[in-house]
Amino acid sequence: MSLKFYNTLTRTLEEFKSIEPGKVGLYTCGPTVYNYAHIGNFRAYIFEDILRRTLKYCGYQVTQVMNLTDVDDKTIRDSRERGMDLDSFTSEYKKAFFNDIETLGIEKAEHYPEATKHIGGMIKIIESLIDKGFAYIGDDSSVYFSIEKFPNYGCLAHIDMEGQRPGARVSADEYGKESVADFALWKHWVEDDGDVFWESPWGRGRPGWHIECSAMSMTLLGNHFDIHTGGIDNMFPHHEDEIAQSEASTGEKFVNYWLHCSHLIVNGEKMSKSLGNFHTLRDLIDKGYSGREIRWLIMSAHYRQHLNFTFDGLSGTRSVLQRIDEFFIRLKELLKESDQGDDKVKELIADTEFRFRSSIEDDLNISAALASFFDFMKEVNKLMDAKKIGGAAAEDLLNFCRNIDTVFGALQVEKEDEVPADILQMVEDRIQARTDRDFATADRLRDEITAKGWKIEDTAKGHRVVRIN
Ligand code: AMP
Ligand code: ZN
Repeated sequence: MSLKFYNTLTRTLEEFKSIEPGKVGLYTCGPTVYNYAHIGNFRAYIFEDILRRTLKYCGYQVTQVMNLTDVDDKTIRDSRERGMDLDSFTSEYKKAFFNDIETLGIEKAEHYPEATKHIGGMIKIIESLIDKGFAYIGDDSSVYFSIEKFPNYGCLAHIDMEGQRPGARVSADEYGKESVADFALWKHWVEDDGDVFWESPWGRGRPGWHIECSAMSMTLLGNHFDIHTGGIDNMFPHHEDEIAQSEASTGEKFVNYWLHCSHLIVNGEKMSKSLGNFHTLRDLIDKGYSGREIRWLIMSAHYRQHLNFTFDGLSGTRSVLQRIDEFFIRLKELLKESDQGDDKVKELIADTEFRFRSSIEDDLNISAALASFFDFMKEVNKLMDAKKIGGAAAEDLLNFCRNIDTVFGALQVEKEDEVPADILQMVEDRIQARTDRDFATADRLRDEITAKGWKIEDTAKGHRVVRIN
């Protein structure tokens, strides 16, 4: 079996080969910390988490770098609007970001570089670009990258450079394909920047957004690394500009595989802060949804397909996850059985592992991987109904699920059954009744608890309440 990814650079499905055997350098564009990230942003981070987990499942040692954009047009604009210095403003959102990824079960990257701590590296790249004739100082004293000097410009976004206006310049961090132009590497200080500036050979100023990612990725992963990702809106201009300035400065190929996820959509439009159609993770948590439910909804669609966000869709995850929880509770109950169980179990595990692995290796086809898990669950349920699963088989099945959950990150095999509050109350009342030697009430409560599908088991540490299968 072999791992394949759809490479945006070539628009084809390619077999993945890492530069160094067994190791992968992965750069994922991180959040601009000017607000709480919305779940559209988290679609990108969850896709990258599935990518990272898949690489690890396939045996690679992953070094993932996710940057924090803590200086750009938006962070400066909004910190000034709030009357705060840039650092205190962005640190609130950095903290929130780390809490949010934990809520969503996103594994931590190896490095989270902050743009403001890498200004020296950015200045070095810009100096080399000026030396090599790829960059020039404009009449506004900012430094620009000259796209006509880089013949490969447009290679990622597949832009035909014929007929583009030579010499046109754009200083904003974000612009569309219709404004293809020389872009800012270093922005000369203007009054709107307030006290946000660094000294440079070109006077006080600050970096453009694109150079930030080039500097941080090359510092931590080397000039040439394996995979670079982001949401599809990052492909142009951000990633196109990263390729141009990195390759022009080092003379080496920058990245082998570019992977981009599609947007999270609301009523046919991209979920975005500017359209106001967004939900932050905290909004949804406050509405009673769990991080696991949100992760499940977002990860279950293939990363290159549009995913339409609806509350019905989100609520639908609850019953799926409940079925999964019940499945594991039932399976764990069988651990205490002494017999071995059916031979079919080993075969079922091997077949499912094959389907699961071929699915994730096929450009992270998580929907097919989930389908293989659901079919597996159905078969195991049938075997359990037929009392054909013994302790050793249950152990094997659970271990297999733990293994595939290193990719899903959401099965929660170890989760204990949640006992409903009314059952807990009845259990308490029964204990009290027994203490009061009111055995009639105690017996009645026990029967009521049983009727509701629960039983009280005595253990060495007292008692526990378990679901009756
Ligand atoms: P930003 O903080 O705007 O730089 O965005 C952070 C990441 O979220 C980038 O990789 C974006 O491409 C991605 N992103 C933003 N909006 C969406 C969306 N609606 N769906 C999927 N990814 C998104
Ligand atoms: Zn970036």
